[in-house]
Amino acid sequence: MALNYSNKINKIRTFALSLIFIGFGVMYLGILVKNVAWLMVIFFILGLLCIVFSTVVYFWIGLLSTRAIQIICPSCEKPTKLLGRVDACMHCKQPLTMDKNLEGVEFDEKYNSKEYRKELREKDSK
Ligand SMILES: [Zn+2]
Repeated sequence: MALNYSNKINKIRTFALSLIFIGFGVMYLGILVKNVAWLMVIFFILGLLCIVFSTVVYFWIGLLSTRAIQIICPSCEKPTKLLGRVDACMHCKQPLTMDKNLEGVEFDEKYNSKEYRKELREKDSK
């Protein structure tokens, strides 16, 4: 099943990694414009901010990972980490859920949203 969705932890990790590259790219631009001192300083600060932010994101992934539930994927039988109500397997992108109500339901990102949970709670209380 081709699913345009990937594991959240993987997604954030990719984001953090691209931030590092962007940071270095911006710093490289700073070297290119070294004739204009103030512009170079701005590029360097921006680049540094990207790298610092990426470190923060990496730290955040670490925190998230400890909160994620580790399970064995039923599809590829490798250990993967689930974050939130629905998530995809890190290896085969098999959609996985921790919610019995959502088993067999077509995969949808909306199940992770606060609105959906609120809707569900209101339905339960009736
Ligand atoms: Zn899998």
